[in-house]
Amino acid sequence: MADLNLILLGPPGAGKGTQAAQLTNEFGIPHISTGDILRAALANETTLGKEAKRYMDAGELVPDEVIIGVVLERIAEDDARDGFLLDGFPRTVAQADALGGELAQLDRRLTAALLIDVPDDIVVKRISGRRTNPRTGRIYHVDFDPPKQEGICDEDGTELIQRDDDKEETVRTRLTVYHEQTAPLIDYYDERGLLCHFDGTASPREVHAHIRSTLATLKLEDEL
Ligand code: AMP
Repeated sequence: MADLNLILLGPPGAGKGTQAAQLTNEFGIPHISTGDILRAALANETTLGKEAKRYMDAGELVPDEVIIGVVLERIAEDDARDGFLLDGFPRTVAQADALGGELAQLDRRLTAALLIDVPDDIVVKRISGRRTNPRTGRIYHVDFDPPKQEGICDEDGTELIQRDDDKEETVRTRLTVYHEQTAPLIDYYDERGLLCHFDGTASPREVHAHIRSTLATLKLEDEL
């Protein structure tokens, strides 16, 4: 079977992480989330984490030269041989070019760019309502998934926090950054015949079903 090399595009809060977790589980490919890699680096106080912190806290992109090397090394690892799902990368045209170049060198190609689209006002509502357990990473939402007792994690009683990059002002910056630097990738992948579009305001289950059927069609086309 051909390798399954996928990227997820879409604004913050579109549900990329949720879809990624399910798809990677079903297809047995690694979920490579640059946000998760950077947050882990931050928590472990590595050089990468220290470099990335101020950009992340401000909702800005970390510089291309910091993130590109990390991702190219990761997709060349053994567990990504049969495919991968990139979540949060590429975020700039330079990152997309670097990814395309590396795949060509490995004699591989991208299968599809999955765009999950959600309007800005819904993104702000979704993200600014998030509350996180700083100890376990468990996420709640003040309206859509509240804990039993306000501000306290149901699982271990830890006081929930609002992550700096989830604050409304930062979300607005992240959206501006998305529209200016990442949205051009929609045309970039459309021109290359790789873009598949999904309505991210639908339920996670519906989005998932739509992605699955699109991938099934692509696979059939590939085999014809
Ligand atoms: P995310 O969880 O994907 O929204 O990422 C959280 C933050 O990590 C972003 O706001 C950026 O500061 C940084 N980040 C994640 N992926 C990238 C990337 N591909 N390029 C630059 N910065 C990134």
